[in-house]
Amino acid sequence: ELTVVGFIGLGRMGLPMVENLLKSGFSVQGFDQSEAARAEVAAAGATACSSAKEAARGADVVITMLPNGSIVRDVLLGEAGVADALSPGAIIVDMSSSAPTDTTYLSEQLQPRGFRLVDAPVSGGRKRAVDGTLTIMAGGEPTVIDAIQPVLEAMSAKIFRTGKIGSGHAMKAINNYVSGAGMVAAMEGVILGETFGLAPEVIVDVLNVSTGRNNTTEVKMKQFVLNRDFGSGFALGLMAKDIGIANDLAEALNLQMGSLAETSVRWKAAQDRLGPDADHTEIYRFLADS
Ligand code: NAD
Repeated sequence: ELTVVGFIGLGRMGLPMVENLLKSGFSVQGFDQSEAARAEVAAAGATACSSAKEAARGADVVITMLPNGSIVRDVLLGEAGVADALSPGAIIVDMSSSAPTDTTYLSEQLQPRGFRLVDAPVSGGRKRAVDGTLTIMAGGEPTVIDAIQPVLEAMSAKIFRTGKIGSGHAMKAINNYVSGAGMVAAMEGVILGETFGLAPEVIVDVLNVSTGRNNTTEVKMKQFVLNRDFGSGFALGLMAKDIGIANDLAEALNLQMGSLAETSVRWKAAQDRLGPDADHTEIYRFLADS
């Protein structure tokens, strides 16, 4: 039975995910480079560790919830040397939204050393991380996913098995491309209508009972955009990264995808103007004065 979980990356998503693991009875060894995050995880009832290596030591499962796949690779294989501290047979679960190519590389490095990797990125945002109802898309060997199923269930309401290693990360990038393109379309629709003279609330209400509806029209417009709240808890730089991953994947597969390429360019331009730490819903401000 897997009981000790090392958790590296205690940010907007990682911290509430740890809280749900603790609620389900797992013992958690947490690490983040931010001292404030380490204090928060200790207050939540986990063991706060002073290095990634320490968080991995003695853990049955090590979860990473870091900004991107190159940081995950550095933490596991680089100077931080998590791989050197892992227990024999430990399972590493990268729940970050990493690039699938980074994930296959990582798996090739870890496998000969007897460690098993699963990619299990999530959708649902901070709210569902808090509620423990994230959607998980898990790639990797079915028997390895079986072994970590209770760990995943502690954080999730729905677990999809997407196939080979890296397929969860590919699926996540596809989701965020579709979501980010839908967001730009919905926002441009509102800006277009408003400039013509329609009331923004009317535009959103009509879209929501019509075929133009999507998650941005149904949720984000009224919660975060029209009221200028911009507090979704998902950074613009992370969304730009995810759409870039989808675009890189299309290029690697020799697919010409005009909307994907254009969406990737728009999000990167928004990031250049507003900074990576802006909320991703703030792309509205960029689109409104482009
Ligand atoms: P975040 O920036 O809030 O958290 C990342 C954490 O990683 C920070 O606390 C940071 O201090 C820590 N960190 C960075 N480098 C480190 C290192 N080398 N060693 C130790 N700690 C380090 O980001 P987040 O919103 O929690 O996102 C984490 C991942 O989840 C990203 O890949 C993101 O794309 C993905 N994601 C986010 C959301 C969301 O709504 N926020 C939703 C789904 C997926």
